[in-house]
Amino acid sequence: MIELRDAFGRIATDLRISLTDRCSLRCTYCMPAEGLQWLTKTQRLADDEIVRLAKVFVDAGVRSIRLTGGEPLTHPTLVDIVAQLAAFEPRPELSLTTNGIGLAGRAAALVEAGLDRVNVSVDTLDPEKFTALTRRNRLPDVLAGVAAAAAAGLAPVKVNAVLVRDSNLDEAPALLAWALEHGYQMRFIEHMPLDADHTWTREEMVTAEEILRVLASQYDLRPVGHIDHAPAEEFEVFSRDGERLGTTGVIASVTRPFCRECDRLRLTADGQLRTCLFAQTETDLRAPLRDGATDAELTELIATAVAGKQAGHGISSIGFVQPTRTMSAIGG
Ligand code: SAM
Ligand code: SF4
Repeated sequence: MIELRDAFGRIATDLRISLTDRCSLRCTYCMPAEGLQWLTKTQRLADDEIVRLAKVFVDAGVRSIRLTGGEPLTHPTLVDIVAQLAAFEPRPELSLTTNGIGLAGRAAALVEAGLDRVNVSVDTLDPEKFTALTRRNRLPDVLAGVAAAAAAGLAPVKVNAVLVRDSNLDEAPALLAWALEHGYQMRFIEHMPLDADHTWTREEMVTAEEILRVLASQYDLRPVGHIDHAPAEEFEVFSRDGERLGTTGVIASVTRPFCRECDRLRLTADGQLRTCLFAQTETDLRAPLRDGATDAELTELIATAVAGKQAGHGISSIGFVQPTRTMSAIGG
């Protein structure tokens, strides 16, 4: 059996596919107000190219595929892509990371097509803050999307929030309360230096330690550790009088990196393979694909890229350089 093993013994089994670099929001920590230089239709992989590459990855040992972006729900044939991935043998686990806009109308169709899980980004429940943070007045659409996903059978819905000082940090306990009440799994994410505006600074970044301190003002959190290869540190959440309320997670990619256990690969919307979010190099799969490469040749290119996967992201190393591609153009 083929496996994608790197020089540090890690085996890549999880693939994130960015379906598009475009987005319906302009989150201040991710994109500039005017958007980015979008990929053209020719630059973007077509559906059949996405599906062909995904199959090559699955045949090489990938067992879970997450569709992301940009905003994957802006991709007109998302449901059809999910159906094609779900028909693979072996069938990979299929998930979606989305800002939730448009999910209300498509959640049921996505489940029918074979979607297993969803992560929806909800940074705040305050409409004014939401509009300031995302530069769009769309909170009701997002919340309708989360509710529809749960109703369609994608429970437990995971909800992601990037916490930003002077914006939504103080709302963390309220976000957790809302998630616990609805049975969603809340995960708080440290902001990483992948923003388009290059405004990230270590001093301004909200650390996991700080997030846990803010949550501890209202809850008793007991660490569970990492589950499987997931980057989130899980916590059981208890009320002050000892009632177990559920769980939450903190993704501390900057201050508590989990690179040693990383099993991820990323395929960008223009067909570039990235073995790390912070890689300075990519492997072009689009050109060989369009030049008629066989599955065996594509597998060889992927295996070579994985073999050279860097040990860690190196954000804390002297000489760290932010990659040119931003989070939305890589696929978060
Ligand atoms: N548009 C979809 C969404 O927002 O969920 C999918 C793509 S988005 C890039 C995936 C996740 O990355 C979101 O949860 C978002 O909050 C997070 N994100 C974006 N920029 C980030 C950054 N610089 N550091 C950490 N997380 C970031
Ligand atoms: Fe769009 Fe997601 Fe980036 Fe927000 S975080 S701008 S929703 S890609």
